[in-house]
Amino acid sequence: MNSVPVALIGCDGIGRELAQAVSRLLNSCFGVGFLEIEAGYEHFRRTGRTLDAEDLQRIRSCRGILFGATRSPRSRVAGYESPILLLRKHFDLFANIRPVKSRLKGERKMDVIIVRENIEGLYAGRERSNGPEEAVAEKVVTARNTERLARFAFEHARHLGRTRVTVVHKSNVLKLSDGMFRGICLEVGRDYPDMEVREELVDAAAYHLVRDAGRFDVILTMNMYGDILSDVAAGASDGLGFAPSLSIGPETALAEPVHGSAPDIAGKGIANPYGMVFSSCLLLERLGQEQDSRALRAAAEQAIAEAFLTPDAGGSHSTEEVLCAVEQNVRAGSRQAE
Ligand code: ATP
Repeated sequence: MNSVPVALIGCDGIGRELAQAVSRLLNSCFGVGFLEIEAGYEHFRRTGRTLDAEDLQRIRSCRGILFGATRSPRSRVAGYESPILLLRKHFDLFANIRPVKSRLKGERKMDVIIVRENIEGLYAGRERSNGPEEAVAEKVVTARNTERLARFAFEHARHLGRTRVTVVHKSNVLKLSDGMFRGICLEVGRDYPDMEVREELVDAAAYHLVRDAGRFDVILTMNMYGDILSDVAAGASDGLGFAPSLSIGPETALAEPVHGSAPDIAGKGIANPYGMVFSSCLLLERLGQEQDSRALRAAAEQAIAEAFLTPDAGGSHSTEEVLCAVEQNVRAGSRQAE
């Protein structure tokens, strides 16, 4: 058992509820220890504080990060900086893996891995106002970051036994920025002759994800496109509440469900915990606990098959009941393995 804790940063709404509930499950089933760090918009409103140097040092001392979700104010709030954007930049979390796999019964079949650039593009934070009549957002693409992202995506695809990588961009309009991203990704792809490399414009990719997701295996794309396409993919399969993600950098990894803080259902105890559970599986695997990761994924998949579902997925169970079923399945699985 590893005595170094994982940083637990729940933040707001259902992000906080689910991070805390799933951290208890990880602790009781696999002995994972946590160091809780307060952050998020509600915390800022109460205390005026955002993540500071001391918090970042404490997070650095941990072996990974389990993150909930932050409520994002729709307009600028003086003094507030989104903790997730800050963490991505501070820890150089350049790659974001978002697997979207359908597990519910039905027609909506999907098994796609989106590898999204995570620190540049339109989310690089280079936005300015040129007076009341004009605002500008710069889209940043660097060769160094694109190359390491592309290499990461092809290696990850190979590691998972995937065979096709589709580079998604809009280089017919954004010839320099998206053009550079496209060129580097296709170039890196030449080093992977075992992979079929395709490309697609982002608007067409969104359409095809809904109509014919089977054409995709791994999608390699830019920051904002990946953000939007992963919601499209989740919406076209089991739903946002099931979608996990893992952000990866040179020194740490951060697990976080794709969904946000969902203020409409926060505090009701009915948030779907599977996105957080599958995010934890990605983190456990990254931390070298492959067996625990497999056991947790199998237990969650079994609970889904047994219809332990929250209302967003057509069920009537609470978050706690779902997690209780997952925990029982983990324990039954480990008894069987003995
Ligand atoms: P934020 O302000 O944090 O971006 P949001 O509500 O705009 O929050 P999401 O949290 O991504 O964005 O949620 C979008 C919708 O999906 C909401 O109506 C929410 O109820 C639903 N939803 C998202 N995640 C879950 C979940 N885990 N369980 C149940 N419903 C969810």
